[in-house]
Amino acid sequence: MTGTFVGMPTFPSAARTALADTQLRHNLAHATGVIRGKRAAVVGEVENWEDLRLAGAAVKDRALRSLDSRLVELEESLTARGAVVHWARDADEANRIVVEVARAHAVDEVVKVKSMVTQEIGLNEALEAEGIAAWETDLAELIVQLGGDLPSHILVPAIHRNRAEIREIFRRRMGEVGRPAPDDLTDEPAVLAGAAREHLREKFLRAKLAVSGANFAVADSGTLVVVESEGNGRMCLTLPDVLVSIVGIEKVVPTWAELDPLIRLLPRSSTGERMNPYTSTWTGITPGDGPQEVHVVLLDNGRTRALADETGRQALRCIRCSACLNVCPVYERTGGHAYGSVYPGPIGAILNPLLKGTGDPQTDSLPYASSLCGACFEACPVRIDIPEVLVHLRAKVVDGHRDDRVPKPEALAFRGAAWAFADPGRLGRAERLSSVAGRVLRRRGKASLGRLPGPGGAWTDARDLPVPPAESFRDWWKRTDGGERE
Ligand code: SF4
Repeated sequence: MTGTFVGMPTFPSAARTALADTQLRHNLAHATGVIRGKRAAVVGEVENWEDLRLAGAAVKDRALRSLDSRLVELEESLTARGAVVHWARDADEANRIVVEVARAHAVDEVVKVKSMVTQEIGLNEALEAEGIAAWETDLAELIVQLGGDLPSHILVPAIHRNRAEIREIFRRRMGEVGRPAPDDLTDEPAVLAGAAREHLREKFLRAKLAVSGANFAVADSGTLVVVESEGNGRMCLTLPDVLVSIVGIEKVVPTWAELDPLIRLLPRSSTGERMNPYTSTWTGITPGDGPQEVHVVLLDNGRTRALADETGRQALRCIRCSACLNVCPVYERTGGHAYGSVYPGPIGAILNPLLKGTGDPQTDSLPYASSLCGACFEACPVRIDIPEVLVHLRAKVVDGHRDDRVPKPEALAFRGAAWAFADPGRLGRAERLSSVAGRVLRRRGKASLGRLPGPGGAWTDARDLPVPPAESFRDWWKRTDGGERE
């Protein structure tokens, strides 16, 4: 029922389409502006915010440095408390485990807690292929699912939709998959939320199996933590008999006490709230209370590849707050779909190439989806230096093309520049040639070169290329003795 990111175009091509959609740009500018304002207000209240950021980053780094032993510790803690632990190398393995659990209980539907990792592995599609319906229960995810749409934001997946569009989706689609929307449905947020509540309630009460992710997994106690705003997640975590939680291996936190800075950083950075409305924690099985069969799938899916990258591994600190998306001038204009992944925005521009590796044109286009303004680093609660990783990944993308039989125009231009710069005589001749061209063009009244021919045209479409100076720097230096005789 949901769309898929498979086969998405490269970022520049997808962004061009998105930029032409004025309604989308209006929705995004409004929504990101509101969240930015709320975040700034509540972050400003915390005197030692910088110390908190440092503490959060240190906790995640500590866990990542000893990830091998922390994961074994987590497995032992979970097993000791009655959970069944599975290890999944990739999406296929993780999906297969969930299908097998569903088959073992003969269920043909599951309810889901909002989870990025299940979208990353395409769980809904994998279940659907096996005849098992997966119902999203987070309001925004429900909107995306009913609309046959794709999420475009980590925290607010339907950020690209406005109220009128949501009303239309509910009226059209709810009746096809369950309780229909009421006839008098309006686009008032409370009315829309009421319709979703009624629609979901029958699914909660019927479901035998729930699927979740986890924001954090505490190694020493075996506790999983889900942080959410609506309470729908808690319904999934407590009502069904069986719970399967898919947890990226980077979610490990060494001790319960070390959750503290992360739990304080997350709500202020994501929803702009002082405290999170629903923080659910569970440790294996509690007899007579909640699911009596708990499976935990520890997922790699590229995370060890990212961990092996010395510059890029900091991306695994990410707590998916989405603050970097909300401050990014590129995201605000293109929206999330242009990134072709469940992880959009600045974190998506680094996380996707780190998890999947470079070499695919779509993934390789992502590190360039940034002006390197640095706003993402300033906003990130766990101090991920996204611009540093972007530059590092750009270098990797370029390195991957060094042996191309047909070099890119950009590579040819830089080879030409390297050839000229390697010899002072050659550089002098090139400068003199360019000065002559500059003088002629200026005499004709030109200040810029206009659109360059061929592939260079893409560069000048968005920039003015000034005519070359009439006198080169080195000629000026010689004539004036370094400015002494000016
Ligand atoms: S990179 Fe930082 S700001 Fe962006 S989602 Fe992750 S934790 Fe939040």
